[in-house]
Amino acid sequence: MVAQISRFVAKYFVQFKLFETSVQTLRQSAIAAFPHTTMRQHATGPIDIDNIRYTPFLGLRTLLVRCEADNQGNLYKPMILFRNVNYNPADNIFEFDATDNGQHYQIRRLSRANTDVALRCECGDFFWRFNYYDHLDRSLYGRVRRPYIALYNPGSANPTESPGICKHLMKMAEELENLGLLE
Ligand SMILES: [Zn+2]
Repeated sequence: MVAQISRFVAKYFVQFKLFETSVQTLRQSAIAAFPHTTMRQHATGPIDIDNIRYTPFLGLRTLLVRCEADNQGNLYKPMILFRNVNYNPADNIFEFDATDNGQHYQIRRLSRANTDVALRCECGDFFWRFNYYDHLDRSLYGRVRRPYIALYNPGSANPTESPGICKHLMKMAEELENLGLLE
């Protein structure tokens, strides 16, 4: 009964969330949801992040960052949309060229811990475990997975129904921190 109530409360807060979700929050949520895994956060080492592309949306104050995550020949395309981006920074500046038109932009560095994000990856771990719950958390970028799959025992691949990120998004965030976009 207590477990049922706490699950209800958790669902309630997920569905009516009033706070923002950062890359760090999603990483910590994934680690807490699968505390005994030897994969995911422990398996980012061999992944190479290549071909990082920037698409700024100044009017929306967002920045879409896409890349290729090459895990020893298995290629995935994780992407992160950052919200509340400051395109007129006075200091703490990160510079990039937009992929579409080559135009040069300056933004205030984004926060790993605080900047609100929406993201996705096409890998199985993200699709089965996090796509649906990130959708409920308002942190999924793009289309939620097909409802009939989600309705079929949706908690089975993610017993705590937690939002989170896969190892490709974890490694992408590390790379963006190395580049200075994230701090
Ligand atoms: Zn992935």
